[in-house]
Amino acid sequence: MKVIHTISELQKEISSLKSEGKTIGLVPTMGALHQGHISLVRRCVDENDVCVVSIFVNPTQFNDKNDFLHYPHTFKDDRELLNENGCSIIFAPSEQEMYPQPDTRVFDFGLLDKVMEGKFRPGHFNGVAQIVSKLFDAVTPDKAYFGTKDFQQSVVIKAMVKQLNYPVKIIECPIVREPDGLAMSSRNMRLTFNQRQIAVKISQALNKSRNFAAEKPISEIIDRVTNEINSEPMLKVEYFDIVDGNTLMPVTDWNDSDYIVGCIAVFCGEVRLIDNIVYKESVI
Ligand code: AMP
Repeated sequence: MKVIHTISELQKEISSLKSEGKTIGLVPTMGALHQGHISLVRRCVDENDVCVVSIFVNPTQFNDKNDFLHYPHTFKDDRELLNENGCSIIFAPSEQEMYPQPDTRVFDFGLLDKVMEGKFRPGHFNGVAQIVSKLFDAVTPDKAYFGTKDFQQSVVIKAMVKQLNYPVKIIECPIVREPDGLAMSSRNMRLTFNQRQIAVKISQALNKSRNFAAEKPISEIIDRVTNEINSEPMLKVEYFDIVDGNTLMPVTDWNDSDYIVGCIAVFCGEVRLIDNIVYKESVI
């Protein structure tokens, strides 16, 4: 496994691998890796000759400076984990390398980046699109792997790929959870012991709601999940939206769409956690 810090060295390596006919897969991450990330890495290793994992805490996608400053960095452990799981290249650039000049590009994803995360984290998806497009340009992957844990992010990335005609196939991977159901996240390591015990209520409330979803109106599901989570003093729901899984527009009736997903953001103390649940699966 190679560790590369500069775009020029990465490009040299990639073009040499491509000249040997090798296929390239990319897993973009911000490090502090856990088994959720590793599920993407494993799939990337299985489906490509070369698996590139980028580790870069991208400043332009953080609307909250405090969140950026507290983002965990665990490079030594990450490197070990990636080595054990078949990664071929870690691309770990500096901020100066990725942004030698401020990136002034403004993307237009219509309403896709205005709702949910986009509403509460203004500029977040513009920053995501900036860094992912720079990574696609540097790595020129055949396939790129994203987790549906960040459901809206996958939708925005798919839109960006279409808009910019990137010749890359986006592979969406399911959410990996802790044994008790909490969605794995690098931010979980910031939870205190008590917060960690309580955080499981988020996935529990979502799961429970799926059992009676079709029988109850959508507005009632939203209220039930929100109230159940907010009844824990340590938890505060920022939003819980039930949306069309393709357009991300809110649905008001279960018959409105064939693909319906509930997306939630919850503060557990200072730590902001997101999760989602598929109520109705896409037929495509
Ligand atoms: P991050 O390092 O948080 O930017 O995440 C890098 C990639 O890993 C993103 O595509 C995430 O959606 C994905 N990811 C993070 N947590 C999980 C999880 N629990 N299950 C599956 N994928 C995940």
